[in-house]
Amino acid sequence: MKQKTISFVLPVYNEREGIQSFWKEISKTGRALQADSLESEFIFINDGSTDGTLDLLKDIAQEDPRVRVIEFSRNYGHQIAISAGIDFASGHAVIIMDTDLQDPPAVCLELVRAWREGAEVAFAKRRTRKDSFMKKLTARIFYRLLNAISDTHIPADVGDFRLLDRKAVEAMKMYREKHRFMRGISAHIGFRQKEILFDRDERTTGVTHYPFKKMLRFSTDAIMGFSSVPLRLISRLGMLVSFLSILGIIYVFVVKLLQPQQVVTGWPFVMVAIFFIGGIQLTVLGIIGGYIARIYAESQDRPLYIISAVHGADRS
Ligand code: UDP
Ligand code: MG
Repeated sequence: MKQKTISFVLPVYNEREGIQSFWKEISKTGRALQADSLESEFIFINDGSTDGTLDLLKDIAQEDPRVRVIEFSRNYGHQIAISAGIDFASGHAVIIMDTDLQDPPAVCLELVRAWREGAEVAFAKRRTRKDSFMKKLTARIFYRLLNAISDTHIPADVGDFRLLDRKAVEAMKMYREKHRFMRGISAHIGFRQKEILFDRDERTTGVTHYPFKKMLRFSTDAIMGFSSVPLRLISRLGMLVSFLSILGIIYVFVVKLLQPQQVVTGWPFVMVAIFFIGGIQLTVLGIIGGYIARIYAESQDRPLYIISAVHGADRS
């Protein structure tokens, strides 16, 4: 019988210092899989690195025929890099993982075991993580909020580190939205999902590519991609404000009727009310604008990514 293949989808952006030790570790995992009669295929997606990472990847591809390097024409972002990797992967199962050794390669073996036991999506959930306090706090709030308002149950404290069976891969490839939140999509497709717990390591070299601003964009993509609750909240907010203003109107009338000599005081109140409503209106416009921007991006229908070259033995 022909051996089954596991494809590793490995997004890389400016990981010059760490990529060789990553490769060393992941090839060990490859050997462990081989001992278990599984072939491996490694797909690196070079997401427009500017620090010489690409040359290191090309060297790796030259040495090992199981390695392919997909070179993007520029930096497209982590989620798009993963998407391209999935498009290219040919294995019976695909493992997506970061290339900074924060996702421990040893956990891959557990994902594979879950897959062999029948899981079609095996995702790695962080039991602990060694990141900054801010990162942990924001992640905590983000996952709780997302789950409270999204229609799809998206497991908390789970990154993109996961194994997908071929069936799940084909399903995910059908999602071509431009603002992508891959772990949400992977939950949305259904199938038999299984959770594997692990301890997320520290980044040993280089820096995170998700500073606060990018995390904010990432969470907006997640929320707007998987929930229309913000839009629905707008009308609730409108009703609340209308109700408050009716109370105000009644108050003014009652004072006019019962004590006509007393003028309802307060131009400061009028100013505050104007600013209050102005603020609400701008916020609401921003929310609607966010959804419109997504409609706009979809209607432009630009390609998700452009590949400038593919390196490695197998170019099919
Ligand atoms: N990455 C990428 N493109 C980007 C940013 C990051 O391909 O624009 C890769 C990066 O090389 C790493 C993974 O995505 O393998 C996760 O990024 P990072 O470690 O910076 O995120 P964090 O672990 O801090 O959330
Ligand atoms: Mg990382």
